[in-house]
Amino acid sequence: MKELLVLSGKGGTGKTSLTASFVSLADQCIACDYDVDASNLPILLKPDKTQGQEFSAGLVAVLNKDICIECGLCRDLCRFDAISSEYQISELSCEGCAFCAEVCPVEAIEMQDRSSGRWFESNSHVNGKLVPIFYAELRPGEENSGLLVAQVKSAARKKAQQEGYSLLISDGSPGIGCPVISSLVEASLVLIVTEPSVSGFHDLKRVQELLELRGVKSILLINKADLNLPASQAMEKWAQDNGIPVAGRIPYSKELAAVVSGGQVPVSQPELHELILPVWQKIRKELEKVN
Ligand code: SF4
Ligand code: SF4
Repeated sequence: MKELLVLSGKGGTGKTSLTASFVSLADQCIACDYDVDASNLPILLKPDKTQGQEFSAGLVAVLNKDICIECGLCRDLCRFDAISSEYQISELSCEGCAFCAEVCPVEAIEMQDRSSGRWFESNSHVNGKLVPIFYAELRPGEENSGLLVAQVKSAARKKAQQEGYSLLISDGSPGIGCPVISSLVEASLVLIVTEPSVSGFHDLKRVQELLELRGVKSILLINKADLNLPASQAMEKWAQDNGIPVAGRIPYSKELAAVVSGGQVPVSQPELHELILPVWQKIRKELEKVN
C-alpha cells in the first residue's frame, strides 16, 4: 500500500482542491483528511452522512454533588484552578491529573475519558466511483491533534488492508506542527503544494527540511505559478538543485477558484481536468518509484 500525502507550509495554497482532484483522477483509492482542526476535503468530496466515533485522549474529573460534603479540599489543591467555588469542574481547565480524586475523603470525584473530538469513516461518490473517506474534528481547545491524525490514519490503513486498496491520498494539515509530523508516518511520497512568493518559498523550504529529517521523499507543485514567474523559476531551480522532482506548474485560474467555492472538485470541469491531469500523471510515476 502507498500513501500520497499533500502538504503545504501554510493554508490557502489550493492543497485541498488539488487533493480532491487527485482522488477523482485515481483509479481506486482511499481519501483521508488529516486537517483535524478544519477538515475541508469532505466539503468537496461530499461523503454520506455518518455519526462518527468518539476520540478520547486523556481524562477529565467528574464531581458527584450527591456525595460531595463540600470540604473544599479538591478546589484548594487543584493546581489548574479547574474547580469553582460552587464545585463545578471546568472541562477546559481540567488537566486530568486525578489529584482531586485521590484527595477526596468521600470518593466523590471520578476520572472519566475526555471526549477530544470525533473521527469519521464514510463513502464519497466521486467521478462515478465509490471512495472511502476518513476525516476528523478536534474539539475547540483540545490539543491532541497528532493523536487524532494517527487514529484517522490507522483506521484508513486498516480499511485499505482489509479491502485491498493499494493507495491512500491524504490531505495534510497546513504548517509543520504536530498533525503534520503525525501524518508523515508511513507516507510514501509527499506532494508539496506551494505558491510563488517569498513566504511561499520560505514555507516550502521548512516543509522540505522536515521531510529530510523524517526521510520522506517529496515532489513539488507550484500553484498560481504565473502570478510570479521569476519566483516560480527560482523554486524549480531550487528543487532541481535539491533532487526534488517537479510535478508541474498550475497557472492562476479564476474558474478553479469559482468551481471550488461552489463546492465542486476542480477536475469535474473539462478545462481544469486538462490542466491537472498531466500533474497527476507525473505524481503517479513518482509514486511507482517509491516504496
Ligand atoms: S483532575 Fe487535576 S486538573 Fe482536573 S480538577 Fe482534578 S486536580 Fe484539577
Ligand atoms: S474533596 Fe470531595 S468532598 Fe471535598 S469538596 Fe471536593 S469533591 Fe467534595
